[in-house]
Amino acid sequence: MAGLTVVRDLAALRAKVATWRQAGETVRLVPTMGALHAGHLALVTAAHHDCPYRDGNRVVATIFVNPLQFDNAADLAGYPAREAEDIAKLEAAGVDLLYAPPPEDVYPEGFCTSVSVAGLTDCLCGAARPGHMSGVATVVTKLLLRVLPDAVYFGEKDYQQLLMVQRMALDLDMPLTVVPVATVRESDGLALSSRNVGLSPAQRALAPQLYRTLSALAATLADGRPLGDTLARAQMDLLTAGFSQVDYLELRAEGSLAALEAARVPSRLFVAACLGSVRLIDNLKVI
Ligand code: AMP
Repeated sequence: MAGLTVVRDLAALRAKVATWRQAGETVRLVPTMGALHAGHLALVTAAHHDCPYRDGNRVVATIFVNPLQFDNAADLAGYPAREAEDIAKLEAAGVDLLYAPPPEDVYPEGFCTSVSVAGLTDCLCGAARPGHMSGVATVVTKLLLRVLPDAVYFGEKDYQQLLMVQRMALDLDMPLTVVPVATVRESDGLALSSRNVGLSPAQRALAPQLYRTLSALAATLADGRPLGDTLARAQMDLLTAGFSQVDYLELRAEGSLAALEAARVPSRLFVAACLGSVRLIDNLKVI
């Protein structure tokens, strides 16, 4: 194995990718914000699986905590950073290149462009965190144009993000495939997240309640019955159980994120809720 190369500036990234392209190799991209866990590594595994490493296919990971997608300076400052451990994990997973730029490499002075995807950047996390989803769309566009991969991997854990990138790639004729990867969960159902390290033991014990709530609701709603006050009651139950805030608990169409009153088309439940300062999101297919 050739080992992992770490680059921090665009010129070095493009030079490295160009050597692979000249050799006729393909490139798969896994964008992350670091503090890597088994969910991120499942994306790397999928990238290798689509294109086995030894057959001239390269996997690039990025670690960039994108300031544009944070609506809260304290949240940005407190986002976990574990670069040395991340590098070891990426190397062990057979990643060829890590691009971990400083913010000024991505957003030089004067940067003022923003990407939005109508209908997909303004609901759910976009409504709860103003500017968040278009910040994600903007950085993903930049990373894709920087790496120019054949395929890019996104987790279903951030389903709104996945759908938004799929739509954006289609609308902007991006010559790449957006590949979804199933959510990796702890044995108690909690979706793996870099933010989970911020949970106290008591909060960690409460956190799987989110997935249990989604699972119970999915079972109840799968027959297409009208929502009525089902979601409002489940939201109250989360607050009573000890969640400090529920940003949303909603049923939406899987392909468009249109709000639904019953699960009569392919649909998912989406939740965002806080335990103290830790904001957790999850989603689950209903039908
Ligand atoms: P993040 O570092 O949180 O921005 O996530 C980077 C990528 O990893 C995104 O495509 C996420 O959807 C994906 N991801 C994060 N957590 C998980 C998980 N538990 N299972 C699968 N993919 C995940």
